[in-house]
Amino acid sequence: MRTLLADHPLVTHKLTLLRDESTDTATFRILTDELVTLLAYEATREIRVTEVSVTTPVGVATGFRLSDPKPLIVPVLRAGIGMLDGMTRLLPMASVGFVGMVRDEESLVASTYANRLPARLDGREVFVLDPMLATGGTLLTVITSLCDRGAAAVTAICLLAAPEGLAKLDAAFPDDSVRVITGAIDDRLNDKGYIVPGLGDAGDRLFGEI
Ligand code: URA
Repeated sequence: MRTLLADHPLVTHKLTLLRDESTDTATFRILTDELVTLLAYEATREIRVTEVSVTTPVGVATGFRLSDPKPLIVPVLRAGIGMLDGMTRLLPMASVGFVGMVRDEESLVASTYANRLPARLDGREVFVLDPMLATGGTLLTVITSLCDRGAAAVTAICLLAAPEGLAKLDAAFPDDSVRVITGAIDDRLNDKGYIVPGLGDAGDRLFGEI
């Protein structure tokens, strides 16, 4: 697995505001949206393109368009939904699949409660949206399921990552077709599986406690 730390000053600036416990839900949503667009710019750096020619009012230019099959975006419910608009703004032609994962607060084991993915993903590039890469259990399950369906490459876009989660994914996916893009790699997980210093529960901060 390849890890890319997108430590651009704008990313760091927005992440700092996002972490602040006094940031309200409305601002948190806007910042998440903006951060995803910045991270997506990096995440799509290697997206496959096909050479085309285009007629301008003055002549003919060589350009590129995204290759077929078009990419798939997979937000991991619930918190990943807060990242979807920022991603589809950059890739409006992409299809969107959904995976719902819930974490048992005692065992910290993630289980799947919803799955709406194409049966086959042969040759497709997939972008998974999950704000917090903590233990790595959720992304391990989701990425395995995407690879089993034949995805050509899987890129997880995470606002924050913990070293423990990155190590788990690195051990599970030794080759370069799996990548993680994150805005910061934090210190560690606490005994409840939260990223320290992190930003708290991303789902609660985006959508409120339920
Ligand atoms: N999920 C969250 O929302 N926050 C964490 O710190 C870890 C997992």
